Amino acid sequence: MEDRIKQLEKLSIALEPDSGQRRILQEKVIQYGDSLLENFRHEQAFIETGDKGVGLYDSPISDEPIAIDKALELLKTNVDRPGVHLGSEGHLAYIPSGGLYVAALAEYLAAIGGRYAGLFFASPGAVRMERMLLRWIADFIGYPESAKGDLTSGGSISSLMAIVTAREAYNLKAKDFPDTVVYLTDQTHHTIEKALRIAGLKECVKRYIPLDKLYHMSTDALEEAILSDKNKGLNPWLIIATAGTTDTGAVDPMEPIADIADKYQLWLHVDGAYGAAFALCEMGKKILKGMERSDSIIINPHKGLFMPQGSGAVLIKDGRKLFDAHHSTARYLQDEDTLGSPDDVSPADLSPELSRPFRGLRLWLSLKLIGVAPFRAALEEKLLLARYFYEKMQHINCFELGPYPDLSIVTFRYIPPKGDVNEFNQRLINAIHQDGRIFLSSTMIDGKFTQRMAILGFRTHIDTIDRAVEILKEKAQGLEG
Ligand SMILES: *Cc1c(COP(=O)(O)O)cnc(C)c1O
Repeated sequence: MEDRIKQLEKLSIALEPDSGQRRILQEKVIQYGDSLLENFRHEQAFIETGDKGVGLYDSPISDEPIAIDKALELLKTNVDRPGVHLGSEGHLAYIPSGGLYVAALAEYLAAIGGRYAGLFFASPGAVRMERMLLRWIADFIGYPESAKGDLTSGGSISSLMAIVTAREAYNLKAKDFPDTVVYLTDQTHHTIEKALRIAGLKECVKRYIPLDKLYHMSTDALEEAILSDKNKGLNPWLIIATAGTTDTGAVDPMEPIADIADKYQLWLHVDGAYGAAFALCEMGKKILKGMERSDSIIINPHKGLFMPQGSGAVLIKDGRKLFDAHHSTARYLQDEDTLGSPDDVSPADLSPELSRPFRGLRLWLSLKLIGVAPFRAALEEKLLLARYFYEKMQHINCFELGPYPDLSIVTFRYIPPKGDVNEFNQRLINAIHQDGRIFLSSTMIDGKFTQRMAILGFRTHIDTIDRAVEILKEKAQGLEG
């Protein structure tokens, strides 16, 4: 047996490169990373390749290692080239997400340090760091000391956690679901319905509240719906308000909705996955005023705080409710006493996860090394760029604009003098995708094929927007000619 063990040790030694090997790997990886960074400005935002990365399959996973150069070549050709380049300044589609350089360095350190951020006992410092970040977010959102939250993988899980917390806080049982009512709109993000379904609440009643002309939830209609449901003997439970919808960037009227939630004792959940980060700047704070009156809120640092994907956050105003809905214990965890003091509450007790990445380090190192001021400036810049784009497009023939932006999304379409408008706009977005210098995405609003300009990339600046306007003009005229 000992011989075999020694033999296995020899074979497994490759798992740990020595310092010389590390140096070589570091150099190649850093060089490759730098080449990606250089391409993010003025490179293509979207590249359609014929093979769509299928070349990866030519190099199957096997017992035999390959050299780093070969691995990076596979990565370059098959992964980092085809599709949408999220880091590109010209990525103006969906909701752009970030990936600050400092955050990438922090990811490296988090992976090497291997701190277990799920349990206070295992890594009190990592847990304190995450708590500090959640407190910082809570402060700029306007949540009180009683709030608790979690750094999650993104908006989908954040909303799921908030909905599960609201379900437990109202002590809803399966037999209650068919009489329980959720209020949302046609513009509510689809992950909310997904979360309701995963939370077992598929059978509850969903009331789609009409929108006003600017795609905000109509608060008169909301109150009417609640009263009418009460009259029918139903149980109004949850209002979903959105601080920045995906289609148009609309911010639902937060104060009146909060008044209604108070008056009828409903749980108010704010989906601020995209928009809540704007509260960091004064201009955004005014637009979002009232969202701090919600019972729960989500924000995606991988959107408005320019973190790499996998950075979400959820906050519950009465933190005890988050704990009640998520804590659990196990015999094998007896060494850690999570209930020793409120200070010792572990992320694992506030989240569906047990093992989890140390998500805090990427945000902490970025905020510490860069300071908050550049984040605040970038967010105000994005708000102003959307207004700038709107005003520029107003003066270009045949472009019809949607509402003046609440945040940093502008909708528009091209109205050709003749022919089908939807069909023309479909061809326009195809032409933009083929060109690839900028990447836009479209949506359907009131049955109309609509283009969207979503500005949130930290590399997107005024010259990017000027170029986008030129490309839009050029492509539309090309299609007409
Ligand atoms: C992005 C987004 C989500 C979903 O977040 P994920 O991190 O992709 O899960 C939910 N709501 C809104 C408004 C969003 O913009």
